[in-house]
Amino acid sequence: MYFSVFLKDKLMACVVQKFGGTSVADPNRIKNVATKVKKEYDRGNQVVVVVSAMSGVTNQLVQYCKDIDENYNLQEYDTVVSTGEQVTIGLLAMALQSIGVPSRSFTGWQIPLLTDQAASKARIHTIETEKLRECLDNGIVPVVAGFQGIDENGRITTLGRGGSDTSAVAVAAALKADRCDIYTDVDGVYTTDPRLVKNARRLDQVTYEEMLEMASLGAKVLQTRSVELAMKYQVNLRVLSSFEENPIGTIICDEESIVEKEVISGITYSRDESKITLVAVKDEPGISACVFDLLAEANICVDMIIQTESVNRKSTDITFTVPESDLNGALSVLAKHKEEIGYTDIISDSNCVKVSLIGVGMRTHTGIARKMFRALSDKGINVQTISTSEIKISVLIADEYAELAVRALHAAFELDVKQV
Ligand code: ASP
Ligand code: MG
Repeated sequence: MYFSVFLKDKLMACVVQKFGGTSVADPNRIKNVATKVKKEYDRGNQVVVVVSAMSGVTNQLVQYCKDIDENYNLQEYDTVVSTGEQVTIGLLAMALQSIGVPSRSFTGWQIPLLTDQAASKARIHTIETEKLRECLDNGIVPVVAGFQGIDENGRITTLGRGGSDTSAVAVAAALKADRCDIYTDVDGVYTTDPRLVKNARRLDQVTYEEMLEMASLGAKVLQTRSVELAMKYQVNLRVLSSFEENPIGTIICDEESIVEKEVISGITYSRDESKITLVAVKDEPGISACVFDLLAEANICVDMIIQTESVNRKSTDITFTVPESDLNGALSVLAKHKEEIGYTDIISDSNCVKVSLIGVGMRTHTGIARKMFRALSDKGINVQTISTSEIKISVLIADEYAELAVRALHAAFELDVKQV
């Protein structure tokens, strides 16, 4: 008796399963998802499911808002776009019930999942676990709407596009779940975009830090914020395909948990980059502060920043990059304050792409930068600017070289074979 209680405690895991838009795209796929949930449930595990809207639905809802008014009210936008998930939670709960798995649906406010008031990009404050636990203790599978919550005024909020990944990780953290499995239409995280490089390889494991770099530098597998949350709360995260029978996927975890670490784990690229150069700004204290103050006030995200020491001690150039959508905004702010900043000319270029090499092994291995620049120069690719962090090197190059650069780097670092 004691033994069986012990065994049950030991064996029963709490698992959060998240299914993305393509996995719940139509009733048949929702039935397929239900069988995956049942499989986990039949193992004796406690299962919480988080779902997205059917693929394409959120885009359609956003379009409806724009059709009414280009400057729509953000609170009402959240009311509209959050409805996609309400459809899929109900349908999935029905599908589960019809194959004998007790289940019920939860919208964000029913849990409640409390957020701040930043409509259309809200952040999660707290998740009440009482009702979810009550379900789990009674063998019921809660199906939770991703992407949505409620603020302290009782208004519906959404977490930004792709936000149901973040909902899933947050629910897993709140419940201290053993695992958070993100089911999607790819079978894991790859060394680079498999559409560009045919022999790109699925990674078995990747660290939170690497995944954060990958997510924010252009690999669109997971919403960046979900990875931040997973890292903060040490959530055992896995990305896997919902279209395979026995998917392996990619585990995203702590560096310490990975025995065979790879030096370089991936190459990402982002075409959403524009470069601005302020020519001959005065070489004196306060100029950079002034430039970046102005841009911050205009809500413009600055990414790479390059300034060299001035040779004549009088003037120097400042180069930086902004997202393409912010280029015009940045240019007009800078033009307006030309006198104040004191540059002679302003040059911009939106025909550039940022290519990044990522790997925690950079901390301990030498020669990575040399190999990277050699590989690019062998292909005649000119590097415009460079920026680095402890685990990443990014270069800005002309748009037309993006694919060539990614392929050349993938080959140079032999990422198609596992290196340990
Ligand atoms: N349905 C939302 C979107 O399309 C949230 C999500 O799918 O993660 O952005
Ligand atoms: Mg997504």
